[in-house]
Amino acid sequence: MPGNQFDIQEIHWQVGMIQNIDVGLLVLDRDYNIQIWNGFMQNHSGIHPSDAMQKNIFDLFKDLPVDWFKRKVESVFMLNTRSFIVWEQRPYLFKFKNYLPITGLAEFMYQNITMIPLVATDNQVSHVGIMIYDVTDIAINKHQLEEANSTLETLSRTDRLTQLYNRGFWEESLAQEFQRNQRTHEPCSLVMFDIDHFKKVNDTYGHQAGDEVIRQTASMLTHCKRTTDIAGRYGGEEFTVLLIGTSAENAMIFAERMRKKIEALTVKHDGEEIKFTISLGISEMGKNINNHKDWIEHSDLALYAAKHGGRNQTVIYSDKLQSGDK
Ligand code: GH3
Ligand code: MG
Ligand code: MG
Repeated sequence: MPGNQFDIQEIHWQVGMIQNIDVGLLVLDRDYNIQIWNGFMQNHSGIHPSDAMQKNIFDLFKDLPVDWFKRKVESVFMLNTRSFIVWEQRPYLFKFKNYLPITGLAEFMYQNITMIPLVATDNQVSHVGIMIYDVTDIAINKHQLEEANSTLETLSRTDRLTQLYNRGFWEESLAQEFQRNQRTHEPCSLVMFDIDHFKKVNDTYGHQAGDEVIRQTASMLTHCKRTTDIAGRYGGEEFTVLLIGTSAENAMIFAERMRKKIEALTVKHDGEEIKFTISLGISEMGKNINNHKDWIEHSDLALYAAKHGGRNQTVIYSDKLQSGDK
């Protein structure tokens, strides 16, 4: 077999390979005219090679990011080095539909892109080769993992019954606010409250009814507080809310509003009408509070005084409570 016949054979199967490989291949000349357009590009763009060859890439794809793309390609021409773009930087270069069997997760194909300089016989970069890799499955997996992580994070800080912060996360938030307050010294009040005679609710109407009372108390709290206030379920039927930028006097207005709303509330469950009340304790951030635990203790003492004083009332912490003079 004569030598050049062999060369033609070789070129033939090489072209076949380029045509059929499951990666997008295109070659651009110095003027951004298309010189190679393989089967992958044809299948995903719907543009036949006969309509693509010698055409300017920007005429065929009106929504290409022109400046960004030129910057990348020019650096390959000038520096004679490869360039890589991953989907995290830019999800895609060519907007191709995603045909993965798991539909609905991504409407377009995520792409990793490699650009390579193609050197002519005069040692100058005459063309740039661009390879497009379909990485949609990787991108979807990563997105799903991120979503799962963020759901887990939400779950780990949320109380199931009330959707308020759970005790652990709420305490962490309080500790952070305490630190912040060391710098800002703005007024800030901690309210703790507890449902009165809640055992009787459970005993009279059952545990399910008790749960409904807890849920409605939480939703009343969510409605009454500001979005910046930090509310949590501290224990079974004990709640906490940190009122940002609020003095004890103003916290009293909030607490009394809460108390009266709860007093006026009727929880309906299984044909029963349940009435109940809450007791509240308030403490404002101040000089006798050295850490967030002190702060909780002050509010707790005030709450205890409210219970002791006959329940269904609000008490503001004072140093007198500390000495046991309740
Ligand atoms: P006090 O006025 O002194 O607060 O009286 P109390 O009956 O509310 O007293 P205590 O705090 O001792 O009782 C709380 C009860 O709440 C005890 C517990 O069985 C019940 N409890 C705790 N968590 C839940 C819950 O998630 N659901 C229901 N239904 N009950 C709960
Ligand atoms: Mg109670
Ligand atoms: Mg309690």
